[in-house]
Amino acid sequence: MPRPNRAWVAPPAAPSVGGMTATTPTVAIIGAGFGGLAAAIELGRNGIHDFEVFERGDSVGGVWRANAYPGAACDVPSPIYSFSYALETRWSARYGSQPEIHAYLRRCADRFGITPKIRFGAEVVAATFADDGWSVELASGEVRRFGALICATGQLSRPRIPEVPDRSSFAGAQFHSAEWDPAVSLRGKRVAVVGSGASAIQLVPAIVDEVDRLHVIARSPNWVANKCDHATGGPLHALLRRVPGLARLQHNAEWLWFESRVPMIFNRLDPVRTVFQAWLRAKIRREIRDPALRAVVTPDYKVGCNRILPSNDWYPALDRSHVSVHPHAVARMTPQGPVLADGTVVEADVVVWCTGFTADEYLAPIRITGRDGRLLHTEWKDGPEAYLGITVAGFPNMFLLFGPNTGSITNTITYLLEKQARYARMAIQHLATRGGRLEVRAEVQNDYQRWLDRRLRATVFTSGCPGWYHTATGRVFAVWPGSHLEYARRTARFDPADYTPGA
Ligand code: NAP
Repeated sequence: MPRPNRAWVAPPAAPSVGGMTATTPTVAIIGAGFGGLAAAIELGRNGIHDFEVFERGDSVGGVWRANAYPGAACDVPSPIYSFSYALETRWSARYGSQPEIHAYLRRCADRFGITPKIRFGAEVVAATFADDGWSVELASGEVRRFGALICATGQLSRPRIPEVPDRSSFAGAQFHSAEWDPAVSLRGKRVAVVGSGASAIQLVPAIVDEVDRLHVIARSPNWVANKCDHATGGPLHALLRRVPGLARLQHNAEWLWFESRVPMIFNRLDPVRTVFQAWLRAKIRREIRDPALRAVVTPDYKVGCNRILPSNDWYPALDRSHVSVHPHAVARMTPQGPVLADGTVVEADVVVWCTGFTADEYLAPIRITGRDGRLLHTEWKDGPEAYLGITVAGFPNMFLLFGPNTGSITNTITYLLEKQARYARMAIQHLATRGGRLEVRAEVQNDYQRWLDRRLRATVFTSGCPGWYHTATGRVFAVWPGSHLEYARRTARFDPADYTPGA
């Protein structure tokens, strides 16, 4: 167990909204990833201890437990991709690797006393609101009652593999990047990687030296920027541990640097975007020799539309002689390998699907029934909506973390999760003072949604982007269209006037 350091001392609890009373609701938290842990720690350090965390996996970490493919690492610097009250001083590099992040989250769960409150292997299949409380049903059939529900299942927890015809006819091994099979060796094999998103650009350089032949099926290219990464060895670790305030300074400097990128999402900065795109094109020219390949990897949409991927070794990997890039979709599968939309048969021994997650089916596997029998998935049939991304009209005493329109594009999701956890905790404290239920007013949620839609129209996200930030009908549901400071300001106070108190 690593030694604690100064930056791990949790700040004093925020003042309560009223004191804890006998009516303090018991709380169910679904998920033990960054979001679930943020919620549990926030409750615990504010004197709310009557909660239980349900986690379907066998350890904490969420996506950082599941995504164990070679090369998996964070694409946000670790000093800000961690809890602001639990700054780590021993990251091996500016961008921590998946095993390090997973270990960090396990340490957080232990240090803040959350681990004993987590039920592992406990998959929630339904949650039903009645009589001012939630009945939470597990896959085992067990049903538990709670006063409040916090859903922290993430948007990127369920792998999506496209439903190509005859997918199971493939004679070799195939799996999703988030379900990596360590028993399958890639050494000397013909490997096809489907996708060119954040997962593929980490995986491909990590396996390129090992395989005999690599096919990258990249139907849409993404903008890729330089990754300013560096190893952070012993001397820096010692300084960060010993110099009071240094870890905090490092965190704040990284945070401000990332926050300064916010203007990039607004349409009015199109000229800046054009200059940035020219710079990214120059990177393509520098790192790829073949003009035909350069054309294939150059996106035709505005930079900022979806995640700008940091990598120094993606283009050089694609430029290797045993690597082929296919700018087409997979149309169907044969025993030999994928057949592409242009008719090419990609012969392979292993196919890895880096094809993303079912983000648009947020919370889908859990049947959530709110007041008067309304189903969350029916309410959300045109796309998910929630006030501040946290509360939903018709679903009292329920709080979402990483809910609709709270994805972090310009800075770090951990900051937004902390703010959502704080807001949910303030609401639960309010409930504790008066009991009953709290339900966001429909008109408050609608006004907020109208503001969001207006704001989104001013951003690059509505300029015809590819990717997964929008529903099939084009409604942008995944990303927060503003600065992180603005989100912090909007969620800083819990205003009971926004809510209908129930009986
Ligand atoms: P993704 O960004 O959704 O990319 C999926 C890829 O699969 C796209 O290139 C997509 O092409 C392609 N695809 C889908 N169906 C296909 C088909 N039938 N034929 C050919 N290609 C197909 O998924 P991801 O790379 O797993 O990343 C998902 C999210 O996870 C990221 O946006 C990020 O938020 C998160 N992530 C974060 C990190 C991190 O370091 N923090 C690392 C990995 C992932 P189209 O673009 O044409 O649809």
